[in-house]
Amino acid sequence: MKIKIIGGGLAGCECAYQLLKRGYSVDLYEMRPSVGTPAHKTDKLCELVCSNSLKSTDVATSQGALKKEAKALDCFVLRVAETCAVPAGGALAVDRELFSEKVEQELFSMPNLNLIREECDEIDDWTVIAAGPLASQKLTDKIALLSGEEHLHFYDAVAPIVKKESIDMDHAFFAGRYGKGGEDYLNLPLDKEEYYAFVKELVSAERALLRDFEKGDVFEACMPVEVMAARGEDTLRFGPLRPVGLTDPATGRRPYAVVQLRKEDAAGNLYNLVGFQTNLKFGEQKRVFGMIPALKDAEFVRYGVMHRNTFINAPALLNDDFSLKKNGTVFFAGQISGVEGYMESIVGGLMCAINIDRKARGLEPILPPETTLTGSLMRYVSTPNPDFQPMHVSFALLPSIEGIRDKKKRKEEYGKRAVSDMERFVSENI
Ligand SMILES: Cc1cc2nc3c(=O)[nH]c(=O)nc-3n(C[C@H](O)[C@H](O)[C@H](O)COP(=O)(O)OP(=O)(O)OC[C@H]3O[C@@H](n4cnc5c(N)ncnc54)[C@H](O)[C@@H]3O)c2cc1C
Repeated sequence: MKIKIIGGGLAGCECAYQLLKRGYSVDLYEMRPSVGTPAHKTDKLCELVCSNSLKSTDVATSQGALKKEAKALDCFVLRVAETCAVPAGGALAVDRELFSEKVEQELFSMPNLNLIREECDEIDDWTVIAAGPLASQKLTDKIALLSGEEHLHFYDAVAPIVKKESIDMDHAFFAGRYGKGGEDYLNLPLDKEEYYAFVKELVSAERALLRDFEKGDVFEACMPVEVMAARGEDTLRFGPLRPVGLTDPATGRRPYAVVQLRKEDAAGNLYNLVGFQTNLKFGEQKRVFGMIPALKDAEFVRYGVMHRNTFINAPALLNDDFSLKKNGTVFFAGQISGVEGYMESIVGGLMCAINIDRKARGLEPILPPETTLTGSLMRYVSTPNPDFQPMHVSFALLPSIEGIRDKKKRKEEYGKRAVSDMERFVSENI
């Protein structure tokens, strides 16, 4: 049986290997060099477009634990990366050229791979769309036809996400505006002095540089909170930080300004700062948003970003095996499916191949347990969410481990549990 994969990036190459290993024929389409992207520089498969680091290897971090899970799943791209490692402390960084070359060599050494150097925009049955954050225009036009334009996005404008347990609840209260929505919103009041001090720092904080190709479309669609604040010192108070319809139970009065937070995950462990799309540097986000009294010690699970990123509204469109609800033999893998990051995209390609194989053999799709980084991310991506934005792995997406006060030990426990549950899952299912 033949599977078509569109995109020879991280997800596409991993998916191809896993399918070849399971005896399938693969037509792998890669459009470079005849059609380029604004970020890729070579015609190589599996090109790392930016950093050469695949991040931490420490099991007490989500990225380290994810790598160990990936190893348990016999991840091909990770294995190659390890053979091209360059010293990087506790992280796995690679010689990027060698890395791409070795991926190509290994893939070509396998039977039944047909690499087609063409832009592809035909989505047939048994196709995997792994065209990444910079998928070609022709292809995205076709995806829009399949998914509906409203479910296809071309940029990330993400507000920061913080852990609930790190919010100082003495400076926060649950309430919906005018009594509507009850527990859905967590409100962080600011008094007059706090508000103007915050606005002053916000407008002067250091911003991240945008790449040339990102300057137009990202900003047109969504204004960063710091740009809005620069329009006038009261703009935010009449915009996303408006206090109307809210009474602070601590004072019995309407606050001067209010930052509203909304639940980000079903379990309510994560909250996002509504209306805080931002292009500030990460350190500046921590410093300036930390001036909001309730966020003084906030742990940011994800900082706000604004960048070019093609992705689909996965919760609306995909089954939890990443196949289309409309057509169960068309799959999405990698960043375009709503995950974010190198390792997340690789593991997305891997799980996609596992489920294609199962589906082709008439078996039910499988998901690793929710206690694993892989399983929790797959669930996050496929769980209904009106404000869906791409996500990377995080311990905060896992079911909580209670009773360990020491933060470092708790992280270690999350990591160890994830790896051991993945090992059990692999031995029982794969
Ligand atoms: C500018 C930029 C910087 C980034 N920096 C980082 C970083 O430092 N760390 C990190 O973890 N993540 C980073 N990311 C995210 C990163 O792109 C992804 O994590 C990862 O590359 C996604 O893998 P993928 O396989 O989904 O997509 P890609 O690796 O981009 O692969 C997709 C492939 O599909 C090909 N393609 C597209 N359309 C077609 C078509 N119609 N026909 C045939 N081929 C097609 C492309 O040429 C490409 O080779 C960055 C993204 C961008 C845009």
